[in-house]
Amino acid sequence: MSWAYLNNAFHKKEEVRISPYDRGFLFGDGVYEVIPSYAGKPFLYEEHISRLSKSLNEVSINKPEQWEHLKSIIEDLLKKNNFFNQIIYIQVTRGQEGIRSHTPDKLTSPTLFVESSELVTDLLLTSYKPPYINVGIEEDPRWSRCDIKAITLLGNVMTLDNMSDSGLEEVIFYKDGIITEGAKANIFLIFGEKIVTPPVSKNILSGITRNYFINLLSQNNFNIEEREVSINEIEEADEIWFTSSGKVLQMVQRINNKTLLEKDFKNTIGHKAIELFRQDVLV
Ligand code: PLP
Repeated sequence: MSWAYLNNAFHKKEEVRISPYDRGFLFGDGVYEVIPSYAGKPFLYEEHISRLSKSLNEVSINKPEQWEHLKSIIEDLLKKNNFFNQIIYIQVTRGQEGIRSHTPDKLTSPTLFVESSELVTDLLLTSYKPPYINVGIEEDPRWSRCDIKAITLLGNVMTLDNMSDSGLEEVIFYKDGIITEGAKANIFLIFGEKIVTPPVSKNILSGITRNYFINLLSQNNFNIEEREVSINEIEEADEIWFTSSGKVLQMVQRINNKTLLEKDFKNTIGHKAIELFRQDVLV
């Protein structure tokens, strides 16, 4: 049996209920976080909670009344669901109102929803190899505040839905000829020994995994640069990675059926990055 938390109580997942008058349901008026937990320990917890706090501030949603207890709610949930590795999902919406009105009532109490599920990964095995994915390229159809981790993800969903018809799992989004990110991850491009990732802006999410790899790789003397990348530079990339909390680091194998990665994984910079991550997480 799996458990979820809504407002003030734990419920069996199949029994958890919410009103359609919740503004999350009516307007997509809410924000969220996704936190991996390895061997019972949430990874980069403070970074995720501080981004959630920032998202709430940006959209002027009050902190839910359970905010101070969030950590113990999550610890209890992890124990109740009891998988070795888990992925925690936290969603805060502006809350439930009696009518559907675009203009929110400032006194509405936010809704807090937290759930976790098993994170199936071989990451802790020494033979670990990251997922190799096939991706497409699309003009970025999303809104101009992608720095906010909003639950409103229709542009991402539409793109991934169209991509999946051609067997593609991710997309390289670009705006005005400049690469932004993926539909569910940040992007890194490797040119020779140089690792490049687009700088933080309103067009991308400041990914926790992105920031983590930037720090980890620069501490280990890799040549890493945050700069704008033109869509034309894709042709010259030796490796492309996508980073996210759920999948850590995925390597692009093909872009629209054109093979990018022919090297043996052991000879890639992605392999070195993953090994550094594994050493860090396993201690
Ligand atoms: N960009 C988008 C659009 C995402 O949806 C995600 C993760 O869900 C990321 C980037 C990666 O963020 P993080 O590393 O914090 O999971």
